[in-house]
This record gives sequence, structure tokens and C-alpha cells, in this order.
Amino acid sequence: MYRKSRTTYLINSFRDYQCNCGEAEMVTLVWYPHHKKIRNLIYRYGSKTEQRQEALRLMEQSTPMCRNCAAKFEHGLEPFIL
Ligand SMILES: [Zn+2]
Repeated sequence: MYRKSRTTYLINSFRDYQCNCGEAEMVTLVWYPHHKKIRNLIYRYGSKTEQRQEALRLMEQSTPMCRNCAAKFEHGLEPFIL
């Protein structure tokens, strides 16, 4: 199910953040390491659901990071010190 507002919501969740490498373009950012789960929760469930709250909790436990840095991080090449 595709809802544009939910896609926008996920992108806007990075509004006050940037990657430690300086990347601030919101569409390149991910919530590391829980991004896939957060994205699925937001895309599948509405704003008034328990699942949305779960997504927000996962965001609190994650670090906003650009896709480049997330890829490096996954392979043990630490792009910066957390
Ligand atoms: Zn980065």
C-alpha cells in the first residue's frame, strides 16, 4: 500500500538531523540500524496506531545516518565515532 503522506512523514522525520559526515539531505538519511522496520511500520500503519508509537520508539534507539555512512558502518569501516 502506497500513501504519499506516509512517505513524506518518514522523510520529514529527519528534518532536525543530519549525518555526522555533514550530509543533511533528508532523502539520503536512514535510521540506523532500525530503518527497515521503522519504514515498514510507518508505511503500513496510520498515525494513530500503536505501531506508529513503536516506530517512534525505534527512532529514539537509532542514529540518523546517510546511506553512505550506514553502508560503511555495516562493513566495519567506521565513518565517524558515534
Ligand atoms: Zn554520512
